[in-house]
Amino acid sequence: MANVCPIPSDSYKVGFIGAGKMAESIARGVVKSGILPASRIRTAHSGSARRTAFESIGVTVFDNNNQVVEDSDVIIFSVKPQVVKNVVSQLRPFLSEKQLLVSVAAGVKLKDLQEWAGQDRFIRVMPNTPSAVGEAATVFTLGEKATTEDGELISQLFGAIGKVWKADEKLFDAVTGLRHVPSLMFLKLDLLSLNLMPMSAPVTSCLLSPLGDLSSSELLLHRQADGSGPAYVFLAIEALADGGVAAGLPRELALGLASQTVLGAASMVTSMAKHPGQLKDDVASPGGTTIAGIHELEKSGFRGILMNAVVAAAKRSRELS
Ligand code: NAD
Repeated sequence: MANVCPIPSDSYKVGFIGAGKMAESIARGVVKSGILPASRIRTAHSGSARRTAFESIGVTVFDNNNQVVEDSDVIIFSVKPQVVKNVVSQLRPFLSEKQLLVSVAAGVKLKDLQEWAGQDRFIRVMPNTPSAVGEAATVFTLGEKATTEDGELISQLFGAIGKVWKADEKLFDAVTGLRHVPSLMFLKLDLLSLNLMPMSAPVTSCLLSPLGDLSSSELLLHRQADGSGPAYVFLAIEALADGGVAAGLPRELALGLASQTVLGAASMVTSMAKHPGQLKDDVASPGGTTIAGIHELEKSGFRGILMNAVVAAAKRSRELS
């Protein structure tokens, strides 16, 4: 690996191939953290909405992917998994070993990425959308020619938008299963925040000002039931970690991912002024892993169980007061 040029740590440029939601949340988080100025980030898109989203951060938006590749030291493939093969293969003639290649595409293996790119200096990264609020849970694994320094650069880059773990690629499916729970947590937060709200209150004002116009008895009930909330979430974190362990993750990694994911989901709900249902929809791709997990939860009555828990705690509170 001695012939691999180091990426210049104080001047490297990052290019996103695929100016979508994930790329935007990474770019926003990285710029906000100050680890990389927007002037060192580039992407390409023909659609005006996506161009505006990136230009509003200060990111350079080119007309085509080739320009991004020519002008970047670190190239992050952030297109949908089903188009990654085509996109990487088309850019193959322009890629070189001087560049560090990164993929965030779910379920796409390093072996295939390296083959399509004709380059082995590749890192596979799995972030999640709380990157936009600096609370992502990111896992990465190094390709054959990616150096320890490359790993440190990626760790620093993604560390600016949340917590980062390095893990063997064989654990990635289990990581995906566990770490895609923001959407599942949005279902939970939706229920815990809204269950005791007056029916007439608009959802957004409930979220932004949870104690809004409640009467004093409603307020007491709300506080008592709310006091139980952390316990429900502790159970959920423990159960998610157990699920991760059952799927093959080491306990420490599973617990770290479970707690960071819940933190990230909660941060998105409190800071993005979007309904949790909308945040859930944003990360549930058609036919994807997230909607498969949600389907399983719904079959088991996830929402009903949480609603019952809140109502039971409120009833018990009334009995005790
Ligand atoms: P997205 O649909 O928002 O973004 C993909 C973007 O790629 C779109 O803007 C699309 O116009 C663009 N695109 C399509 N073909 C292109 C091409 N040939 N050249 C350049 N751009 C092209 O999707 P997303 O949610 O941002 O997901 C992107 C990747 O991130 C996926 O591979 C996904 O698996 C991964 N990922 C997403 C999440 C998440 O929570 N959204 C989490 C982890 C990983």
